[in-house]
Amino acid sequence: MEFDLIERIRQRCPAQRGDTLLGIGDDAALLASRPRSQLVAATDTLVSGVHFLADDDPADTGWKALAVNLSDLAAMGAEPAWALLNLTLPHADSDFVDQLIEGFAELAAQHQVDLVGGDTTRGPLSITVTALGWCGDGALNRDRARAGDLIAVSGTIGDAGYAYTRPDAADPQLRRRLCRPQPRLSLGRALRGIAHAAIDISDGVLADLDHLLRPCRFGAELDLAQLPTSAALAAQLADEEQRWQLQLSAGDDYELLFTVPADCQEPVMQAAKDSATPVTIIGRVTESPEVRLLRPDGSLMSLKERGYVHFTTN
Ligand code: ADP
Ligand code: MG
Repeated sequence: MEFDLIERIRQRCPAQRGDTLLGIGDDAALLASRPRSQLVAATDTLVSGVHFLADDDPADTGWKALAVNLSDLAAMGAEPAWALLNLTLPHADSDFVDQLIEGFAELAAQHQVDLVGGDTTRGPLSITVTALGWCGDGALNRDRARAGDLIAVSGTIGDAGYAYTRPDAADPQLRRRLCRPQPRLSLGRALRGIAHAAIDISDGVLADLDHLLRPCRFGAELDLAQLPTSAALAAQLADEEQRWQLQLSAGDDYELLFTVPADCQEPVMQAAKDSATPVTIIGRVTESPEVRLLRPDGSLMSLKERGYVHFTTN
């Protein structure tokens, strides 16, 4: 039965890349190395009941399991190449696996990622993906922010968080942001040599900004009115204060949050253009370690909850 499942996966995800020397089927995959490049590896686990729900569309779960890993590669400025898929299933449910692989394969094809192996075992439902990719010099680390840097984000913020907290009210566009996050791979690559520090937004703008600033003990000033907002979110949440609270604390957008030297505004906007990804400057890195949230009238907003620990059941 397990062999049958693996065979279904292999058939749906045939190797496409020239540098996949040996994919699914042997004891291990063989992958061609690249001279003068660094191999970049990321892995993330989605546990049923914690990171996704049993009645979620399995195709969305398959997409998301790969997307969160590709988003980590994006935040390193890496180019993805391969993935491994470890499935733990309560029973050999071929319908579930077919749908899961459908979503996985759809995103993999968009970024020329080959599925080259994995493991299939019995147990409580969970999905682990490992993504491998390449980076030349200048990987985007988390810990190189400098006082005076501009703080920027890609895309729009708060869409996935709104869909997560208000599943009944969220419109289809916002739900899609939650179910089918788009890893910002081309922007990540375009930011190499420009951005000082970068991270992908999984936990929320403030929580992830904290990851960028804590190592260097800097703080930040954020201009609340600059937080990029989709038309769909603005339509649902007209109250600005409420919207800012959500945008700062809700996770799951998988946008990139990064800092750049203040004199790099032009190359950043060029990188945004080259990668066809919207980028917005939302603030500045400061010497003093606190984070100040500035309303347009100059007054400070305080935050009700810092960071967004989603799925607090674990
Ligand atoms: P082994 O006993 O050597 O680990 P397996 O039966 O676990 O062999 O796997 C056989 C082949 O199928 C290996 O190439 C493995 O990488 C691949 N494989 C197993 N499960 C998966 C999966 N869920 N997704 C992709 N490849 C898989
Ligand atoms: Mg195995």
